[in-house]
Amino acid sequence: MPIAGSEIVKMLPGRKPCRDCGFPTCFAFAMKLASGGATVDKCPYLSDEVKEKLLDALAPPIKLVTIGSGDNAVKIGNEEVVYRHEKTFVHSPAVTLLISDKEDGAKVDEKMKKIKNLEFPWVGVNLKADLLALRNESGDKDKFLALAKKAYDSTDLGMVLISEDMDALFAARDICADRQPLLYPITRENIEEAIPRIKERLTPVAVRGSSVDELVHLTTRLKDAGIDEVILDPGSKNLLEAIRDQTFIRKAALKQGFRPLGYPTVAFPCFMAKDRLSEMLVGSAFMIKWAAVIVFSDFDRHSLLPLLVQRLNIYTDPRFPMAVEEKYYEVGEPDESSPVLITSNWALTYFLVSSAVEATKVPAYICVKDAEGLGVLTAWAAGKFSGDSVGAFIKKCGIEDKVRHRKLVIPGKVARIKGELEDALELKWEVVIGPRETTGIGAFLPALSKELKG
Ligand code: SF4
Repeated sequence: MPIAGSEIVKMLPGRKPCRDCGFPTCFAFAMKLASGGATVDKCPYLSDEVKEKLLDALAPPIKLVTIGSGDNAVKIGNEEVVYRHEKTFVHSPAVTLLISDKEDGAKVDEKMKKIKNLEFPWVGVNLKADLLALRNESGDKDKFLALAKKAYDSTDLGMVLISEDMDALFAARDICADRQPLLYPITRENIEEAIPRIKERLTPVAVRGSSVDELVHLTTRLKDAGIDEVILDPGSKNLLEAIRDQTFIRKAALKQGFRPLGYPTVAFPCFMAKDRLSEMLVGSAFMIKWAAVIVFSDFDRHSLLPLLVQRLNIYTDPRFPMAVEEKYYEVGEPDESSPVLITSNWALTYFLVSSAVEATKVPAYICVKDAEGLGVLTAWAAGKFSGDSVGAFIKKCGIEDKVRHRKLVIPGKVARIKGELEDALELKWEVVIGPRETTGIGAFLPALSKELKG
């Protein structure tokens, strides 16, 4: 639970405002610390003990953990609320593809190719799976290491390394340590042997307990040993147990501020479900119920896409509509006689319009006016797509330097702004009323393009 500024100030030295922290008083510094706008090290007069207490109190209730490196690093945790409607969820769960070292070479190649190639452009973002999980199912260390080496050499993805054999697990870690793999499982049986080996090259580790209670002992032991990049597996055997455990962990961390459970969780639909469809449904439940790494035995484009769209829906901030940047966009390779259309910056509106324009194969400019992420008609009703504001945008966005004609197509639904817009553009532009729906662009645009060229 976040600590209040009034609590923090009691821990500060309270020297006559020396201002060495850059704030006028200790109280001002405390308030900034509480809101995340300052760091503890700015006050040079804190004892190590107080500093440690403060760092602990200010740490997010669910630890931020990074798996992988570079562009493919996956950040999980750092969540602040139990339910999305309370504020927003922050880091979306990592969809993870399992490869066993018992699978034949062709299957392994197919899966590695699949995770690299299955991408879905979707309303301005690129949806894709995130991690590879490599499992030492054969019990043969050499086979597992060969698989780890192959994955390391042929993909840039982060990895989850799964082996009950500690020698195999840490040898695989050494192959890909620079990619910050997640090591699984650390258990009651192997934790003492594992701790010194984890500390040789620190990477995230996942603890597996037979119960939530056991997880508490494991994470406390790791924390005492200085290992804090941890993920939890409560060892749930079926979906019912899993939802119960995930709920308990989430609420203990966020409502009670219980640090030993303040870590992201991993879930394995791949080991819980009997068939592919059930596996996807179980994975979908974990998507809603807080798992941060979700491991699937396999997927294809038809099963992966709905899952990724579900994730996108849950992990977008409900306080802000999805929007695209205000500017003019080029579709194809437009020239000075290409049509110019205008629309609002709600992402869905923009992508519907641009897809419809693209389908006509007519190169064109689409001017996108910032309307705070609203669709055209709503934006007009809210006064954010008026003739005056659209006119001001057209003048400043640079489109006047791109075309020699002066015809601007507005959405048919806001035909009523035509006069006001022409006035705002000082009668230098002719405002053309376009189709009411994007489905009408196919018939409308080629005719306009012909007229402009002709
Ligand atoms: S540096 Fe420390 S003691 Fe000085 S004003 Fe800031 S918080 Fe207070």
